[in-house]
Amino acid sequence: MRALLLHGGEVVDPDAVGGAPAAGGSGGRPGPAGAGTLADVLLVDGRVAAVAPAGAALEVPEGTERVDVSGLLVTPGLVDLHAHVFVGQDLGVDPDEVGPRSGTTTFVDTGSAGAHLFGAFRRTTLDVAHARVLAFLNISSIGATSILLAGELENLAYSDERSALAAAREHADKIIGIKVRASGNVVGAAGAEPMLRARRVADELGLPLMIHLGPAPPGSDEIMAQLHRGDVLTHCYTGFEDNRLLVDGRVRESVLEARRRGVVFDVAHGMSAFDAEVAAGMLAEGFRPDTISSDVHAYSINSVGDLPAVMSKFLALGMGLEEVVACATSAPARHAGLIADGVGTLRVGAPADVAAFELVEGPVSYGDTRGQTFTGSRRLRSALTVRAGAIVHDERMEGER
Ligand SMILES: [Zn+2]
Repeated sequence: MRALLLHGGEVVDPDAVGGAPAAGGSGGRPGPAGAGTLADVLLVDGRVAAVAPAGAALEVPEGTERVDVSGLLVTPGLVDLHAHVFVGQDLGVDPDEVGPRSGTTTFVDTGSAGAHLFGAFRRTTLDVAHARVLAFLNISSIGATSILLAGELENLAYSDERSALAAAREHADKIIGIKVRASGNVVGAAGAEPMLRARRVADELGLPLMIHLGPAPPGSDEIMAQLHRGDVLTHCYTGFEDNRLLVDGRVRESVLEARRRGVVFDVAHGMSAFDAEVAAGMLAEGFRPDTISSDVHAYSINSVGDLPAVMSKFLALGMGLEEVVACATSAPARHAGLIADGVGTLRVGAPADVAAFELVEGPVSYGDTRGQTFTGSRRLRSALTVRAGAIVHDERMEGER
């Protein structure tokens, strides 16, 4: 038996809104963060065993390790819905390096591997990472393993539906959707055809389709028309002039329709997909993201920083703390089909994946991926990460605090 008590933190569990531990709901929340309730989180044998208000007589097993997290925000381990973590490739970063130091315990790799490399992806990463890693399969059999080889959809022979179906069925325990980078710099003369093939494969499998938005073609209206309830539009605040979702200060009608039918809009900051002006304009129109993801990879990591940094940018843009946490925990877990198992939550019985953050108050300046800057007044800084009941990062032990 292995037990860990995270003691005295301010718990923000968006999944539990209205119930324990956030008793009292949104009113009268204590603490400088103003978002959660002081509570103790007990983890036993890799599962959440209890979340109880601080000071309650919580019975803990003998030998329980106690960790003082007072002054920190305690959330479910972050779920990054858009990342590139194929270890050993040019593009991928190691989820066991990036995850612990950023509070991220679940990564969804979005199309690093296509059918031909999925077996290798599995051996180098999926089967061996300590982080939980799932994947959207690239419709291109060669996947997207290097920025230097962009254009994986130019050759239509690579968008092979039979190979994709076979791989998705062989690796059905890891593949949760189909990814297509439907933009002019990737499809070349193939136009919309790879997107249509990806649509058919996703339908055949009954899995969600994730379409990346970049420079046209295809145009955003054409892309929206392909997205159904539960599908994901990633890079929703991109600033490519010919394909923005915000035109003359208004969100495109096709985008509003897509949201009404249940399409998921995902941030995926990356190296070129986060335009602060577009994001601020869409937020001003009430168009908030469904999920906040990083699109972290070897080439984007300098502009992304980490997932808490991307979340902090949305605090700066005016979103609330609990909402931002939801967008990187329960919401992506739900859209990745993981929430029934408790991923992205602190429900009793959920996997013991927990993150603790310092909410650093004070002016902070940010850049977007188009050279624009903006400022915020507070930011999330990763302090402690627990994956499957084990502490995998403790900032205080690194001598950096
Ligand atoms: Zn990406």
